[in-house]
Amino acid sequence: MHSHFGLDGHIVFEYISIIKIGFDTIKSGVDALKNLIPFLSGNSATYARAQIDFNRSKACYMDAQTAREFGYPLCKAHLPPIPMLKNRVHPKYIEDIYKCPVCGCEQPPPEYFEKVEREKAVFDIFI
Ligand SMILES: [Zn+2]
Repeated sequence: MHSHFGLDGHIVFEYISIIKIGFDTIKSGVDALKNLIPFLSGNSATYARAQIDFNRSKACYMDAQTAREFGYPLCKAHLPPIPMLKNRVHPKYIEDIYKCPVCGCEQPPPEYFEKVEREKAVFDIFI
C-alpha cells in the first residue's frame, strides 16, 4: 500500500499505527468511564470525573504536540494550546493564514500584514 515510501517508510507507518491505537485507547477508556458515572457512588463518581478531565486534557496536549510536529501553529490563548487550521491564503502576500477553531485568532495576525505594508511603503520612498 505504502510501497513508494520504501522500507523505512513502512517502519514509520508501523509506529504511526501504534500511536493511533494509543489515542483510540485513551478515547475509549474516557468514554467508558463517562458512561459509568451515573452508576457510581459519590466518591467514585468524583474520582472518575477528575480522571476524565485529566485524560481529556492529556489527549489535548498530545493533539497539540502532534499538530506542532506537523508544522501547525498553536493558539496560545488556551491551555492546552489548540492547533490552528489552515483557513485561506493571503491574496497579496501568498502566505498561508491559519485560524483557531475556538477563538478565531489568526496566524500570522492581521497586524503582521499591516506592518509588512507599512515597511513596504517606507521602502518604496527610498527606491
Ligand atoms: Zn484560540
